[in-house]
Amino acid sequence: MTRDPRFDVTTTTTCGYCGVGCRLEAHQHGGHIVSISPALDGPANRGHTCLKGRFAHQFTRSRDRLTAPFVREHGTLRLASWDEALDRVASEFQRIKAEHGPDAIAGLASARGTNEDAWAMQRVMRAAIGTHNIDNCSRVCHSPTSFGLRKSVGLSGCSGSFDDIEHADVLLIVGSNATAAHPVAGARMKQAALAGAKIITVDPRRNDLSDVGALHCGLRPGTNAAFLNGLTHVLIRDGLVDREFVRSRVEGFEGLADLVAYLTPDVTEELTGVPAADVVRAAHIYGEARTGSIAWGLGVTEQLYGSECVQMLCNLALLTGKIGRAGCALLPMRGQNNVQGVSDVGALPDTYSTYRSVGDDATARLFEERWGVPLRRERGLKLPEMIDAALAGKLKAMWICGYDIGQSDPDSAKVEAALANLEFLVVQDIFENLTSREAHVLLPAASFLEKTGTFTNAERRIQLVQAAAAPPGSAKTDLEIFSLVSERLGHPLPYRGPEDVMLEIGALTPAFAGVTYERIGRGGLQWPVAADGTDTPMLYAESFALPGGKGRLAALPFKPPGDEASEQYPLILVTGRRLEHYNVGTMTRRTGNLELLSHDVLEIHPDDAAAHGIADGALVEVRSRNGSIQLGAHVTDRIEAGHVFTAFHFPEVRTNLLIGQSADINTSCPEYKVVAVAVTPVAVHAGAARGHAVVA
Ligand code: SF4
Repeated sequence: MTRDPRFDVTTTTTCGYCGVGCRLEAHQHGGHIVSISPALDGPANRGHTCLKGRFAHQFTRSRDRLTAPFVREHGTLRLASWDEALDRVASEFQRIKAEHGPDAIAGLASARGTNEDAWAMQRVMRAAIGTHNIDNCSRVCHSPTSFGLRKSVGLSGCSGSFDDIEHADVLLIVGSNATAAHPVAGARMKQAALAGAKIITVDPRRNDLSDVGALHCGLRPGTNAAFLNGLTHVLIRDGLVDREFVRSRVEGFEGLADLVAYLTPDVTEELTGVPAADVVRAAHIYGEARTGSIAWGLGVTEQLYGSECVQMLCNLALLTGKIGRAGCALLPMRGQNNVQGVSDVGALPDTYSTYRSVGDDATARLFEERWGVPLRRERGLKLPEMIDAALAGKLKAMWICGYDIGQSDPDSAKVEAALANLEFLVVQDIFENLTSREAHVLLPAASFLEKTGTFTNAERRIQLVQAAAAPPGSAKTDLEIFSLVSERLGHPLPYRGPEDVMLEIGALTPAFAGVTYERIGRGGLQWPVAADGTDTPMLYAESFALPGGKGRLAALPFKPPGDEASEQYPLILVTGRRLEHYNVGTMTRRTGNLELLSHDVLEIHPDDAAAHGIADGALVEVRSRNGSIQLGAHVTDRIEAGHVFTAFHFPEVRTNLLIGQSADINTSCPEYKVVAVAVTPVAVHAGAARGHAVVA
C-alpha cells in the first residue's frame, strides 16, 4: 500500500472485469473505494484503463449487496447467522452424499474469483466431498481455445504477450470486438494500426478496428472454418509458407495441403460470403509480413466447431513460422478477469492444475499424498452435463459461486428448470441474481476489491489482487467460506491465508513451482515459472510443448454450423458485449455506466429492417426455435445483411432464452454465435421499446 494525501489509503490491485488484467490504484476514503486510477507500471495497461476498470466501482457500496447469509424456510429466504447457514450447507451435503453418493453434488467456481479461491473450491469438491464435479464458466467461453491450443502447440495459454501487438506488422483479429470487450488491449491494437501495423478483421459485424484496419472480411456466421482453410489454401498455393520452419518444427503438412486443395478463393467466397479477392488479399497481407499475431475471441470459440477453428488459427501461425518470436503471438482474448487462472488451477471436471488428467495415476497420487484422501480417477460432469443431470433428478445439489448461470448460460428456461429441480442449492455471491432465486442457502461474498490473492490474465500473467476495502456487513471472502465449509465436512484446509494456497499450488504444479507473492510483485509472472522464479513471457521459441516437440497442423474440414436460416427463421443472431457493461452486468449495472447505456437493442441491417417493416427504435420480437424476447431495434449498417446482433447484459431482456443446445463438439461450449431467428415488429405505444423476456 502507498500513501496519497487525497485519500486515506491507496492500494494497487488488478481489475476484476476482463482478461486484459489492467493494474489499478484503488483509492479509499472513509472506508469506501472513492476513486480508481490506472497503475502507471501495469504491464498490460501501461497507465491506461477503460471505463469499467476506472469508473465501475460503485457497486461495492450498492444497497443491494448481500451483507448477511440467508436460508430458505417454508419456501422463503430469511436472514440467518453464519453458523446456521454453514451448518445447513455441510449437513445437506453430508446427507445427500450419504443417500446418493458424492457425484450427486456439483460445484461451479467463479472466473471472477482468485486463483486461490478456485483452488480451494476444487479441493473441497474433490477431497472433502469426493467428486470431480467441478467446472467454471470457461466451459461456455474459451474451453475450445484451451482444447485447440493444447492439440496444436501444447499449452493452454497465449503464446506470447500483449506486447507482441506493438511488434506485429500484421494483426489478424477473428471473432473479437476487442475495443468493446477488451478495451485496453483493443486500444493498443488501434494504436498499432495508427503506427503502421495492418489489421485484418474477420467478423460478421464491423467494429472500431475494422475502421482503422487494412481489410475487413464480413463473413457469414458459422463459416470461420471455411474462411481459415481458404486462407490456408492461398498460403500454400502462392508460396507463402515458411518451408524451413514447417520442415524442422511442424508435422502434418501433407494432410493439410490435401484437405484444403479444393478450397479455392471462389469456393471460399461461396461458403463464407467474403469476396474471393479479399480472401487472397488477407492471405497475402498475413503471409508476406515479417511478423504477425493472431487474436481471437468468442466469435471463434462459441460455435459448433469452435475448438477445430482454434486449431485452424494455429495452422496459419505454424505454416508461416509466426510463433515463438517477438510480434508473432497467438492471443486468445480471454473473457472474464480470471477465466484463464480458474482453469489453470484445476476448477475443471477432467483435469487437475495445468490440465493434467484426473485419470493420470502419477498426478492423482501427488494430490492424494498432499491432501491425505483417496481421489477418483473418473472425470466429473461438465456444466451442461450438470444441468441435464439436475433435470433428470440424478444431481441433487449444487454450490454455485460468483456465476449467474440463470442469465448467462444458454437455454435459460432449461437452466431455470434444472435449478428448480435440485434438492439443495447454495449460491455464494455478491448480489442476488437469477440463479439465487432458487437458492436454499445464500452466502454473501467479498468482491475483487475486498480480497487478496491472484488473477491470471489473458497473457498467462499471474498478478496480485489486494484488498482495498473491507467486505460489507458480515460478508466473507470466498476462501474463508470454503475453509469454514470444508472444516465442517471433516477436511480442514491448512491455509493461514491466500499465499499459503499459492504455495500449495506451486508444490503440486511444476509450472507454478517458483510462484510467490514476493516474486509476483508489481509486474506479475507469466507461467511456466521455474523453481528459481524465472517466468516465460514467450512460449515455443525452440520447441512446442508436445511429444516430439513439433507443432501439429490439423487437417479439419469445414462443416456447417448447428443452426441455419430458414423460411421461418430467416436471420442469424450473433450475441456479444458492449463497452459499457460486463457480462451479465451484475456489477456494471450498479454503477454510473448504467447512465451511459441503460438498455440493450437489437442491431439490424437497413435492408432487413425494411424487409420486415421495422423502424429504428421500434419494439421487436426476436423468436428462435428455443424462445422469444422483446427489445428495441437499432437499424445500422455496422452489421452485414442477414444477421442481427445483441448483447446479454440485461436480465429484463434475457437474450439467452433464445440459445439452443448446439455446442462445440469437443468441449460442449454452447453455440451462442449462430442462432436462426425471426424478427417482427411489436405494436406498442411510443417510448416503450425497452425489452423483456418471454419464456417459450
Ligand atoms: Fe478492466 Fe479490462 Fe477495462 Fe482493463 S480493459 S480496465 S482489465 S475491463
